[in-house]
Amino acid sequence: MSANNEARGNDRAIGFSFEFFPPKKPEAEASWWRSVQALSAYSPEFVSVTYGAGATSQAPTYAAVKRLVDETDLVTASHLTVVKATSGEVDDVIRRFRDAGIRRFVALRGDPPGGIGTAYSPHPGGYSNAAALVSALKTIGDFDISVSAYPEKHPESADRTGDIAMLKAKADNGADRALTQFFFDNDVFEDYLNDVRRAGITIPVVPGIMPIQNIKQLKNFAARCGANVPAFVDSRFEGLDDDLPGQFEAAADLAAEQVLDLQRRGLSDFHFYTMNRSKLQIAVLDRLGIMPDDTQIGAAPERLRA
Ligand SMILES: Cc1cc2nc3c(=O)[nH]c(=O)nc-3n(C[C@H](O)[C@H](O)[C@H](O)COP(=O)(O)OP(=O)(O)OC[C@H]3O[C@@H](n4cnc5c(N)ncnc54)[C@H](O)[C@@H]3O)c2cc1C
Repeated sequence: MSANNEARGNDRAIGFSFEFFPPKKPEAEASWWRSVQALSAYSPEFVSVTYGAGATSQAPTYAAVKRLVDETDLVTASHLTVVKATSGEVDDVIRRFRDAGIRRFVALRGDPPGGIGTAYSPHPGGYSNAAALVSALKTIGDFDISVSAYPEKHPESADRTGDIAMLKAKADNGADRALTQFFFDNDVFEDYLNDVRRAGITIPVVPGIMPIQNIKQLKNFAARCGANVPAFVDSRFEGLDDDLPGQFEAAADLAAEQVLDLQRRGLSDFHFYTMNRSKLQIAVLDRLGIMPDDTQIGAAPERLRA
């Protein structure tokens, strides 16, 4: 597998980013902020905040990224979608976020307004897809731009070729990296990455890693996103229905094992879906030998090295 490194400002063996969603209620805000503070001690390359559908949904994302910019040293990226918005409205959002100090975006089309699985039609006066949004961002500012990638194909794509063609359009328009949908089968990812490289796409493709907070909820969500939950993942949670600590250990082990295996395959950057929870994420980092306030990676525990 081709190397997928990005230049990093430290000498850590792996780099990682944390994805959050914007809290909408005061109690959620407090718990999200505790997670931000706990995870910021691990010096991520950047953190990102997701975005809802439609120009009017910018408020929670804006509030979250503004707080991150104003109150932390974290490099902060805002996700941005084009659903239900004119191109003028999207451009206004970009400028507003830029003026708040945002220099990084995760540029997305977004899910259909009717929900995943329903037909998507672009807003008649809007950007047609994520590739068009990347071009718009390039016109407005000198932003660092991430885009999505789907190792198991986006549910709307007829096949992998069409899917990779869309990724190529996003890269050709100026995307700096792709962050993938979560997946669990590293062979599937490796196969996908080889096809991506064969298509002439050279930007880093950063694996999206989902530590499993709740296997039942995860399976429902994965089915809607077109992500497969292999039997080997399911089996790790067998017999643990009433054992929350056991589920926690299994989830942390699984995510750490996945990262270590991807590292062995030449990957060095990872995007973690934190679900705004720090405890499980920290358990994963701990298993990888990554300590808070320390850029050195230590040896991984023996049981995860094999
Ligand atoms: C890292 C990451 C972060 C995300 N963050 C958010 C977020 O913050 N907010 C949010 O709402 N969603 C988010 N999503 C989900 C994403 O918005 C959905 O998957 C959405 O359906 C597609 O958006 P996209 O930018 O990936 O689309 P695109 O890159 O434009 O398309 C994705 C794939 O779908 C296919 N496709 C698109 N449209 C069609 C069509 N009309 N017919 C056939 N095939 C088509 C393309 O071939 C392409 O491969 C995220 C996904 C990822 C992987």
